[in-house]
Amino acid sequence: PEKIRIGIAGYGNLGRGVQAAVAKNADMELVGVFTRRDPQSLELASPAPRYAMAELDAHTDAIDVLILCGGSKSDLPEQGPALAAKFNTVDSFDTHARIPEYHAAVDAPARAGGKTALISAGWDPGMFSINRVYGEALLPDGETYTFWGRGLSQGHSDAVRRVPGVAAGVQYTIPSQEAIDLVRAGQRPTLSTRQKHQRECYVVLEDAADPEVVREAIVSMEHYFDQYDTTVHFIDAQTLAAEHSDMPHGGFVIRSGNTSAEQNQVIEYSLALGSNPEFTSSVLVAYARAVHRMNRAGITGAQTVFDVAPGLLSPKSPDQLRAEML
Ligand code: NAP
Repeated sequence: PEKIRIGIAGYGNLGRGVQAAVAKNADMELVGVFTRRDPQSLELASPAPRYAMAELDAHTDAIDVLILCGGSKSDLPEQGPALAAKFNTVDSFDTHARIPEYHAAVDAPARAGGKTALISAGWDPGMFSINRVYGEALLPDGETYTFWGRGLSQGHSDAVRRVPGVAAGVQYTIPSQEAIDLVRAGQRPTLSTRQKHQRECYVVLEDAADPEVVREAIVSMEHYFDQYDTTVHFIDAQTLAAEHSDMPHGGFVIRSGNTSAEQNQVIEYSLALGSNPEFTSSVLVAYARAVHRMNRAGITGAQTVFDVAPGLLSPKSPDQLRAEML
């Protein structure tokens, strides 16, 4: 059978992750990496054809699915609608509050071009979203809880690095074990922000900085830290490089519900990710297979993970799935 031909648009953490994930899927091949930078300046993790983003138009017939690996803040709002006019696409747009408007912006050009655009795949939004929907549908009388971590938060790490006196640093989000235990026990507790997660910072100080002043500036920062219990650890640059260079993340989606007054049911989905971007990329690649099949079946426009049947993600045929997995 012919392989699914994949293009990568944007080469950062996700771009590298997609390259690694395509190599693990025998029914796919990488056509090329497309970038806004000078293609020759890219340091590819493994050899692949590389092109300027402006050359994409010349590859419309050579790419079955283009995986958009740009950032959600400013790249995807532009690239998503523009590229969905000409390619089947998959992206990981994760600004939750903006998903409805992003969906509308991608849907019109994709429909007009007869293309299929899967938006907001990954793990949250993505696999966590699916599990929130399953939980609520299966247990209508219940509560859904999402806990994140232990994981590196990019946004909060950036906020820490902007504090005067901070030379470098990272922030981890940690789910409260006590809160998780209550939820798992079927208690359906009402939890405050402070009760659900803690925050932990590892900070390298600038030479003249006063640690107490820096600590206070971090823990009292509005929105980012003031509603949480935050611990600040001061370390040196070597320790930061040696122990805090990975991007672990993960978390839990738990639905606790009652099917009768006597019976409580708990559903849990959990992720423990060594690398957030590599896992996200792996999800994007599985959805590229589904997008390819949906487009062939005449399903066009913007789609989300809610619109994709699970079997479409698998390289196995429906017959094989029924025989082996049902
Ligand atoms: P990133 O590494 O910052 O890459 C984003 C874009 O920046 C790349 O496509 C690349 O575009 C450009 N870029 C990368 N490295 C660069 C460099 N050294 N110099 C100049 N430009 C560079 O971002 P990422 O970690 O891949 O994450 C992308 C998005 O994924 C995030 O914004 C987040 O919203 C989303 N995400 C979603 C989930 C989820 O579960 N749904 C999970 C994780 C992340 P060019 O090659 O065109 O320059």
